[in-house]
Amino acid sequence: MIESWATSALIFAGKAVFTIKNRRTGNHFTFKVMKPNRKLPRKGIWWVLTKTHDNSWLYMFSIFDDPGEKPYAKLTPASGIKDIDTHPAAIAIMWFLDKLNTNKIPDDLILKFSNRCCRCGRELTDVVSIQRHVGPECVKYIGTER
Ligand SMILES: [Zn+2]
Repeated sequence: MIESWATSALIFAGKAVFTIKNRRTGNHFTFKVMKPNRKLPRKGIWWVLTKTHDNSWLYMFSIFDDPGEKPYAKLTPASGIKDIDTHPAAIAIMWFLDKLNTNKIPDDLILKFSNRCCRCGRELTDVVSIQRHVGPECVKYIGTER
């Protein structure tokens, strides 16, 4: 069982890299959910990238956290992505975010974060940081920034 509230704080911390895998089908995708630029006053906007077969990042779309609306529902596809509704990685991440929102993460979903800090992207080296997916400085801000 994945703790949805904690997972959500990590996913939207600013530089989260994670893989989701369907235990039944074996299908898996790796994503990066990042804030465009921490220094700019652009709250509630994230870029969603997926790792391609040649190990590079493909920017798929941006999502907006709109108060009063279903969180993360507003989605703007990248200009190069024409098939957002049928793109397998896009379908997978939107499905996952919807489950995260509604606290209904299925047990056959495997979620694995990278060994980098979800907020700043630095490599994590101590066991405690690796287990919580956030470094000692950034942990103070997790769940407080949007
Ligand atoms: Zn950090």
